[in-house]
Amino acid sequence: MKFKKLELSGFKSFFDKTNFFIEEGLTGIVGPNGCGKSNIVEALRWCMGETSAKSMRGSGMEDVIFSGTSNRPPKNISEVAITIDNSDKEGSGEFIELNEITVKRRIEREKGSKYFINDKEVRAKDAQTFFADLSTGAHSPSLISQGKIGMIVTAKPSERKSVLEEAAGISGIHIRRHEAETRLNSAENNLKRADELKRQQEKQLDNLKKQAEEATKYKEISKNIRTIEAGLYHLKIKDIENETNKIKEKSNEIDNDISAIKIEIRNDSNLIEEENKKLKPLRDRKLENLSKIQKINLDVES
Ligand code: ATP
Repeated sequence: MKFKKLELSGFKSFFDKTNFFIEEGLTGIVGPNGCGKSNIVEALRWCMGETSAKSMRGSGMEDVIFSGTSNRPPKNISEVAITIDNSDKEGSGEFIELNEITVKRRIEREKGSKYFINDKEVRAKDAQTFFADLSTGAHSPSLISQGKIGMIVTAKPSERKSVLEEAAGISGIHIRRHEAETRLNSAENNLKRADELKRQQEKQLDNLKKQAEEATKYKEISKNIRTIEAGLYHLKIKDIENETNKIKEKSNEIDNDISAIKIEIRNDSNLIEEENKKLKPLRDRKLENLSKIQKINLDVES
Protein backbone atom coordinates (compact mmCIF):
# COMPACT_ATOMS: atom_id res chain seq x y z
CA MET A 1 0.00 0.00 0.00
CA LYS A 2 1.21 3.49 -0.85
CA PHE A 3 -0.05 6.88 0.25
CA LYS A 4 -1.15 8.60 -2.96
CA LYS A 5 -2.89 11.81 -2.09
CA LEU A 6 -3.71 14.07 0.83
CA GLU A 7 -6.75 16.29 0.43
CA LEU A 8 -7.44 19.18 2.82
CA SER A 9 -10.42 21.46 2.99
CA GLY A 10 -11.01 24.04 5.73
CA PHE A 11 -8.24 22.43 7.83
CA LYS A 12 -6.21 24.95 9.86
CA SER A 13 -4.62 27.43 7.41
CA PHE A 14 -6.07 25.61 4.33
CA PHE A 15 -9.23 27.53 3.48
CA ASP A 16 -9.47 26.20 -0.09
CA LYS A 17 -9.60 22.57 -1.09
CA THR A 18 -5.94 21.60 -1.46
CA ASN A 19 -4.51 18.38 -2.90
CA PHE A 20 -1.02 17.05 -2.14
CA PHE A 21 0.04 14.29 -4.50
CA ILE A 22 2.61 11.89 -3.08
CA GLU A 23 4.54 10.61 -6.07
CA GLU A 24 7.15 7.83 -6.42
CA GLY A 25 10.35 8.53 -4.50
CA LEU A 26 10.77 11.21 -1.88
CA THR A 27 8.25 14.05 -1.60
CA GLY A 28 9.30 17.20 0.19
CA ILE A 29 7.39 20.33 1.10
CA VAL A 30 9.35 23.49 1.28
CA GLY A 31 8.16 26.87 2.46
CA PRO A 32 8.83 29.80 4.74
CA ASN A 33 8.12 29.74 8.45
CA GLY A 34 4.42 29.72 9.25
CA CYS A 35 3.30 28.79 5.73
CA GLY A 36 1.55 25.62 7.05
CA LYS A 37 4.05 22.75 6.66
CA SER A 38 3.40 21.37 10.15
CA ASN A 39 -0.34 21.71 9.51
CA ILE A 40 0.07 19.14 6.70
CA VAL A 41 1.68 16.57 9.04
CA GLU A 42 -1.01 17.35 11.60
CA ALA A 43 -3.67 16.81 8.91
CA LEU A 44 -2.22 13.32 8.30
CA ARG A 45 -2.26 12.48 12.04
CA TRP A 46 -5.72 13.99 12.52
CA CYS A 47 -7.18 11.95 9.65
CA MET A 48 -5.58 8.82 11.14
CA GLY A 49 -7.64 9.31 14.31
CA GLU A 50 -5.76 11.73 16.59
CA THR A 51 -7.84 12.35 19.72
CA SER A 52 -5.64 14.89 21.51
CA ALA A 53 -6.41 18.51 20.66
CA LYS A 54 -3.21 19.51 22.45
CA SER A 55 -1.07 17.54 20.04
CA MET A 56 -2.88 19.43 17.26
CA ARG A 57 -1.66 22.61 18.97
CA GLY A 58 -5.20 23.58 19.91
CA SER A 59 -7.28 23.76 23.07
CA GLY A 60 -10.25 21.93 21.55
CA MET A 61 -10.61 19.71 18.49
CA GLU A 62 -12.68 22.36 16.71
CA ASP A 63 -9.54 24.54 16.61
CA VAL A 64 -8.49 22.56 13.54
CA ILE A 65 -11.33 24.21 11.58
CA PHE A 66 -10.22 27.25 9.57
CA SER A 67 -10.84 30.13 11.97
CA GLY A 68 -10.81 32.95 9.42
CA THR A 69 -8.35 35.66 8.45
CA SER A 70 -8.65 39.37 7.79
CA ASN A 71 -9.94 38.68 4.28
CA ARG A 72 -11.58 35.23 4.63
CA PRO A 73 -14.53 34.19 6.82
CA PRO A 74 -14.23 31.25 9.24
CA LYS A 75 -15.48 27.82 8.13
CA ASN A 76 -17.79 25.43 9.95
CA ILE A 77 -16.48 22.19 8.49
CA SER A 78 -13.00 20.83 8.14
CA GLU A 79 -12.15 17.74 6.09
CA VAL A 80 -8.99 15.74 5.51
CA ALA A 81 -8.87 12.70 3.21
CA ILE A 82 -5.98 10.31 2.66
CA THR A 83 -6.06 8.26 -0.52
CA ILE A 84 -4.09 5.01 -0.55
CA ASP A 85 -3.12 2.99 -3.58
CA ASN A 86 -3.80 -0.67 -2.79
CA SER A 87 -3.24 -2.12 -6.27
CA ASP A 88 -0.59 -4.51 -4.85
CA LYS A 89 -3.25 -5.84 -2.36
CA GLU A 90 -0.69 -6.02 0.42
CA GLY A 91 -2.80 -4.86 3.31
CA SER A 92 -4.93 -6.81 5.70
CA GLY A 93 -8.45 -6.52 7.00
CA GLU A 94 -11.73 -6.07 5.21
CA PHE A 95 -10.43 -3.52 2.62
CA ILE A 96 -7.74 -5.77 1.12
CA GLU A 97 -9.70 -6.33 -2.10
CA LEU A 98 -10.07 -2.62 -2.92
CA ASN A 99 -7.65 -0.97 -5.41
CA GLU A 100 -7.94 2.46 -3.91
CA ILE A 101 -8.93 3.32 -0.36
CA THR A 102 -9.85 6.80 0.83
CA VAL A 103 -10.08 7.47 4.54
CA LYS A 104 -11.77 10.74 5.39
CA ARG A 105 -12.32 12.57 8.65
CA ARG A 106 -14.72 15.46 8.89
CA ILE A 107 -15.38 17.74 11.83
CA GLU A 108 -18.30 20.14 12.04
CA ARG A 109 -18.67 22.81 14.71
CA GLU A 110 -20.68 21.48 17.68
CA LYS A 111 -21.26 18.15 15.94
CA GLY A 112 -17.92 16.43 16.42
CA SER A 113 -15.96 14.16 14.10
CA LYS A 114 -17.08 11.55 11.61
CA TYR A 115 -14.93 9.02 9.77
CA PHE A 116 -15.51 7.54 6.34
CA ILE A 117 -13.74 4.79 4.44
CA ASN A 118 -14.56 5.01 0.73
CA ASP A 119 -17.55 7.24 1.65
CA LYS A 120 -19.01 4.66 4.05
CA GLU A 121 -19.26 6.00 7.59
CA VAL A 122 -17.15 4.00 10.04
CA ARG A 123 -16.20 4.24 13.72
CA ALA A 124 -13.07 6.17 14.77
CA LYS A 125 -11.72 2.83 15.99
CA ASP A 126 -12.09 1.32 12.49
CA ALA A 127 -10.06 4.14 10.92
CA GLN A 128 -7.40 3.88 13.67
CA THR A 129 -7.14 0.09 13.24
CA PHE A 130 -6.94 0.45 9.48
CA PHE A 131 -3.85 2.68 9.79
CA ALA A 132 -2.35 0.53 12.55
CA ASP A 133 -2.55 -2.42 10.14
CA LEU A 134 -0.53 -0.32 7.71
CA SER A 135 2.08 0.17 10.48
CA THR A 136 1.25 3.82 10.82
CA GLY A 137 -1.21 6.01 12.72
CA ALA A 138 -1.66 9.24 14.68
CA HIS A 139 0.89 8.19 17.31
CA SER A 140 3.09 6.17 15.04
CA PRO A 141 6.89 6.67 15.31
CA SER A 142 6.85 6.74 11.51
CA LEU A 143 5.37 10.23 11.76
CA ILE A 144 7.96 12.44 13.37
CA SER A 145 6.94 15.93 14.38
CA GLN A 146 9.26 18.84 14.94
CA GLY A 147 11.73 18.19 17.76
CA LYS A 148 10.60 14.58 18.24
CA ILE A 149 13.77 12.87 16.89
CA GLY A 150 15.61 13.58 20.13
CA MET A 151 12.73 12.01 22.05
CA ILE A 152 13.07 8.72 20.14
CA VAL A 153 16.82 8.61 20.67
CA THR A 154 16.44 9.12 24.42
CA ALA A 155 13.31 6.94 24.71
CA LYS A 156 13.10 4.25 27.42
CA PRO A 157 13.33 0.61 26.19
CA SER A 158 9.57 0.15 26.77
CA GLU A 159 8.81 3.20 24.59
CA ARG A 160 11.23 2.03 21.93
CA LYS A 161 9.34 -1.28 21.91
CA SER A 162 6.47 0.45 20.06
CA VAL A 163 8.89 1.55 17.29
CA LEU A 164 10.07 -2.07 16.89
CA GLU A 165 6.53 -3.44 17.02
CA GLU A 166 5.48 -1.06 14.30
CA ALA A 167 8.47 -2.02 12.16
CA ALA A 168 7.40 -5.64 12.63
CA GLY A 169 3.89 -4.66 11.48
CA ILE A 170 2.11 -5.89 14.60
CA SER A 171 0.79 -2.62 16.05
CA GLY A 172 -2.60 -3.37 14.46
CA ILE A 173 -2.66 -6.61 16.45
CA HIS A 174 -2.15 -4.61 19.67
CA ILE A 175 -5.07 -2.34 18.86
CA ARG A 176 -7.23 -5.35 17.99
CA ARG A 177 -6.12 -7.14 21.19
CA HIS A 178 -7.08 -4.08 23.24
CA GLU A 179 -10.42 -3.90 21.42
CA ALA A 180 -10.96 -7.65 21.89
CA GLU A 181 -10.14 -7.33 25.62
CA THR A 182 -12.60 -4.44 25.96
CA ARG A 183 -15.23 -6.50 24.14
CA LEU A 184 -14.42 -9.53 26.30
CA ASN A 185 -14.80 -7.45 29.47
CA SER A 186 -18.10 -6.04 28.31
CA ALA A 187 -19.22 -9.56 27.24
CA GLU A 188 -18.28 -10.84 30.73
CA ASN A 189 -20.23 -7.98 32.33
CA ASN A 190 -23.17 -8.73 30.03
CA LEU A 191 -22.92 -12.40 31.02
CA LYS A 192 -22.98 -11.47 34.72
CA ARG A 193 -25.99 -9.24 34.11
CA ALA A 194 -27.64 -12.00 32.08
CA ASP A 195 -26.99 -14.46 34.97
CA GLU A 196 -28.51 -12.03 37.45
CA LEU A 197 -31.46 -11.51 35.11
CA LYS A 198 -31.83 -15.29 34.71
CA ARG A 199 -31.88 -15.74 38.50
CA GLN A 200 -34.50 -13.00 38.85
CA GLN A 201 -36.57 -14.51 36.08
CA GLU A 202 -36.32 -17.99 37.65
CA LYS A 203 -37.64 -16.50 40.91
CA GLN A 204 -40.44 -14.82 38.96
CA LEU A 205 -41.14 -18.13 37.22
CA ASP A 206 -41.45 -19.92 40.60
CA ASN A 207 -43.83 -17.24 41.81
CA LEU A 208 -45.84 -17.46 38.62
CA LYS A 209 -45.99 -21.28 38.91
CA LYS A 210 -47.32 -20.96 42.48
CA GLN A 211 -49.83 -18.38 41.32
CA ALA A 212 -50.87 -20.64 38.42
CA GLU A 213 -51.38 -23.59 40.82
CA GLU A 214 -53.48 -21.40 43.12
CA ALA A 215 -55.46 -20.13 40.13
CA THR A 216 -56.16 -23.75 39.01
CA LYS A 217 -57.28 -24.68 42.54
CA TYR A 218 -59.46 -21.57 42.69
CA LYS A 219 -61.01 -22.49 39.34
CA GLU A 220 -61.78 -26.06 40.51
CA ILE A 221 -63.28 -24.87 43.82
CA SER A 222 -65.33 -22.21 42.00
CA LYS A 223 -66.61 -24.88 39.63
CA ASN A 224 -67.62 -27.14 42.56
CA ILE A 225 -69.30 -24.22 44.33
CA ARG A 226 -71.24 -23.42 41.15
CA THR A 227 -72.36 -27.09 40.80
CA ILE A 228 -73.46 -27.22 44.47
CA GLU A 229 -75.23 -23.84 44.14
CA ALA A 230 -77.00 -25.07 40.99
CA GLY A 231 -78.18 -28.22 42.94
CA LEU A 232 -79.40 -26.07 45.84
CA TYR A 233 -81.26 -23.71 43.48
CA HIS A 234 -82.83 -26.74 41.77
CA LEU A 235 -84.09 -28.09 45.13
CA LYS A 236 -85.32 -24.62 46.15
CA ILE A 237 -87.18 -24.26 42.85
CA LYS A 238 -88.76 -27.73 43.37
CA ASP A 239 -89.88 -26.69 46.91
CA ILE A 240 -91.31 -23.44 45.57
CA GLU A 241 -93.13 -25.36 42.79
CA ASN A 242 -94.62 -27.80 45.35
CA GLU A 243 -95.67 -24.91 47.57
CA THR A 244 -97.19 -23.09 44.58
CA ASN A 245 -99.15 -26.23 43.60
CA LYS A 246 -100.45 -26.60 47.19
CA ILE A 247 -101.47 -22.94 47.27
CA LYS A 248 -103.17 -23.35 43.89
CA GLU A 249 -105.10 -26.42 45.19
CA LYS A 250 -106.12 -24.49 48.32
CA SER A 251 -107.11 -21.52 46.21
CA ASN A 252 -109.26 -23.79 43.99
CA GLU A 253 -110.93 -25.26 47.11
CA ILE A 254 -111.62 -21.76 48.45
CA ASP A 255 -112.94 -20.73 45.01
CA ASN A 256 -115.29 -23.75 45.10
CA ASP A 257 -116.41 -22.86 48.67
CA ILE A 258 -117.01 -19.25 47.56
CA SER A 259 -119.06 -20.50 44.58
CA ALA A 260 -121.11 -22.77 46.89
CA ILE A 261 -121.67 -19.93 49.36
CA LYS A 262 -122.67 -17.64 46.49
CA ILE A 263 -125.23 -20.23 45.34
CA GLU A 264 -126.52 -20.51 48.93
CA ILE A 265 -126.77 -16.70 49.20
CA ARG A 266 -128.65 -16.60 45.88
CA ASN A 267 -131.04 -19.32 47.14
CA ASP A 268 -131.52 -17.47 50.45
CA SER A 269 -132.21 -14.23 48.57
CA ASN A 270 -134.85 -16.00 46.49
CA LEU A 271 -136.44 -17.39 49.67
CA ILE A 272 -136.40 -13.95 51.31
CA GLU A 273 -137.97 -12.48 48.23
CA GLU A 274 -140.68 -15.17 48.24
CA GLU A 275 -141.31 -14.66 52.01
CA ASN A 276 -141.42 -10.90 51.44
CA LYS A 277 -143.98 -11.47 48.75
CA LYS A 278 -146.01 -13.60 51.18
CA LEU A 279 -145.62 -10.95 53.94
CA LYS A 280 -146.94 -8.12 51.76
CA PRO A 281 -150.70 -8.86 52.14
CA LEU A 282 -150.20 -9.50 55.87
CA ARG A 283 -148.42 -6.15 56.23
CA ASP A 284 -151.22 -4.45 54.29
CA ARG A 285 -153.83 -6.04 56.52
CA LYS A 286 -151.84 -5.05 59.59
CA LEU A 287 -151.84 -1.44 58.39
CA GLU A 288 -155.59 -1.65 57.77
CA ASN A 289 -156.18 -3.06 61.30
CA LEU A 290 -153.99 -0.39 62.83
CA SER A 291 -155.98 2.36 61.15
CA LYS A 292 -159.21 0.68 62.29
CA ILE A 293 -157.92 0.55 65.92
CA GLN A 294 -156.95 4.17 65.68
CA LYS A 295 -160.39 5.09 64.46
CA ILE A 296 -162.06 3.02 67.27
CA ASN A 297 -159.79 4.69 69.84
CA LEU A 298 -160.81 8.07 68.53
CA ASP A 299 -164.49 7.13 68.65
CA VAL A 300 -164.08 5.85 72.25
CA GLU A 301 -162.38 9.08 73.37
CA SER A 302 -165.08 11.23 71.89
P1 ATP B 1 7.17 26.59 11.07
O1 ATP B 1 8.14 26.30 9.98
O2 ATP B 1 7.43 27.90 11.77
O3 ATP B 1 6.93 25.49 11.99
P2 ATP B 1 4.95 25.85 9.47
O4 ATP B 1 5.20 26.12 8.03
O5 ATP B 1 5.03 24.47 9.97
O6 ATP B 1 5.80 26.85 10.35
P3 ATP B 1 2.43 25.79 10.65
O7 ATP B 1 2.83 25.84 12.06
O8 ATP B 1 1.98 24.51 10.08
O9 ATP B 1 3.52 26.46 9.76
O10 ATP B 1 1.22 26.81 10.39
C1 ATP B 1 0.95 27.88 11.21
C2 ATP B 1 -0.04 28.75 10.51
O11 ATP B 1 -1.29 28.13 10.46
C3 ATP B 1 -0.19 30.03 11.24
O12 ATP B 1 -0.18 31.11 10.34
C4 ATP B 1 -1.57 29.95 11.88
O13 ATP B 1 -2.21 31.21 11.93
C5 ATP B 1 -2.29 29.07 10.89
N1 ATP B 1 -3.37 28.37 11.53
C6 ATP B 1 -3.31 27.44 12.49
N2 ATP B 1 -4.59 27.04 12.84
C7 ATP B 1 -5.43 27.76 12.08
C8 ATP B 1 -6.85 27.82 11.94
N3 ATP B 1 -7.66 27.05 12.69
N4 ATP B 1 -7.39 28.68 11.06
C9 ATP B 1 -6.62 29.45 10.30
N5 ATP B 1 -5.28 29.44 10.35
C10 ATP B 1 -4.69 28.61 11.22
